[in-house]
Amino acid sequence: MSDAPAPSPISDAERDELRRHGILLTSVQEIYNWGRSHSVWPLQFGLACCAIEMIAASMARFDLARFGSEVFRPSPRQADLLIVSGTVTKKMAPQVVRLWNQMPEPKYCIAMGACAISGGPFKQGYNVLKGIDRFIPVDVYIPGCPPRPEALLHGLMQLQEKIRGQAIAGPDAPPHLRDDVRGDCTVPAFGPHDLIPPKDPSLWHPPVIVRPD
Ligand code: SF4
Repeated sequence: MSDAPAPSPISDAERDELRRHGILLTSVQEIYNWGRSHSVWPLQFGLACCAIEMIAASMARFDLARFGSEVFRPSPRQADLLIVSGTVTKKMAPQVVRLWNQMPEPKYCIAMGACAISGGPFKQGYNVLKGIDRFIPVDVYIPGCPPRPEALLHGLMQLQEKIRGQAIAGPDAPPHLRDDVRGDCTVPAFGPHDLIPPKDPSLWHPPVIVRPD
């Protein structure tokens, strides 16, 4: 998916000039993406302490409803945003990937907190996944342990920007509109010692570490 905004057929200056004359101009793509970006429904799902902050973000004080995302759905079939909030144990990882696969396209993933991004304080633990992006594609990473609700709101705004920048046709179209991108992700199995496979090589490769001689 491209992060660059889709090119607009008219410039901002031209649009402002038209607006001054009471003419509102838009395109199918802009209005389609505007609607989608303001109706992202998260899956009602949390894994550990970060989930408490996610819940706080949806309550009256931080009011996630301002962004159209207050409709937490109890079923993955009705959700289009997976907020991975908390520690992903290796036993839990297959379930998280299975939930992701059950969500309809177009769908998005936010990795909330150090645990979801990299394993966080438990990174060296034998039982903790070192980042959910090893198995599912992550759109927005929110660092912190835990990130505050404001950080989740900012992450959601980043996701909205990404959605608004998606084209509805052509090579910059999101994966669900392209035939060359597969939908489901590999569900790992919990083997005798570790996950099998330990990562999805089409999604994640270990960073190359160059050491001095
Ligand atoms: S990142 Fe910190 S607050 Fe969030 S789940 Fe991990 S340990 Fe808990």
